[in-house]
Amino acid sequence: MELEVVHRRHQDCTRCALHKGRSRIVLGEGNPHSPLLFVGEGPGADEDRQGRPFVGKAGQLLDRMLSAAEIPREEIFITNIVKCRPPGNRTPHEEEMETCKRILREQFVSIQPRLIVTLGSAPTRAIIDPKARITRVRGQWFERKGVRMLPTFHPAYLLRNPAGKREAWEDFKRIRNAYLEVMSNMRN
Ligand code: SF4
Repeated sequence: MELEVVHRRHQDCTRCALHKGRSRIVLGEGNPHSPLLFVGEGPGADEDRQGRPFVGKAGQLLDRMLSAAEIPREEIFITNIVKCRPPGNRTPHEEEMETCKRILREQFVSIQPRLIVTLGSAPTRAIIDPKARITRVRGQWFERKGVRMLPTFHPAYLLRNPAGKREAWEDFKRIRNAYLEVMSNMRN
């Protein structure tokens, strides 16, 4: 199913309580056929206002890291585990993530990414391993059904803990190399 159709089906979603506090749903944006998918935790205040993912301060840091890694933002797809802003930017509850994963699953099926980057603890636990600790697993590749997945720090965490930027940059170099490899295989 085309991604646009998936998004149209869910734009008025009220399946969990998070819909009550949202201004706008943030389904994600980017290339609907990208081999590279970034998944964050949930929209913040700026994202909720604009209806777009990663547009606040954390988003600007993500943009800088993508740009340094020479990965054009418009070539990839960026979304979150939950599509509505949790009150006060709290971490989404497990049942909210579980409920919202239905939309993410449909996005996966439509986009068919080859590489997934999970930004921070919540998406890493929701997608890769419920027991994963981001400080232990970041920078490692995991593979499921031919899709390679790499957890790294959430840019909001890096704003609070700039010392983590060096490790995050190592991760972004891994992501860039894997992305270039996938793109080259797709061309051949
Ligand atoms: S967070 Fe997800 S499941 Fe909950 S209301 Fe928003 S779109 Fe629906």
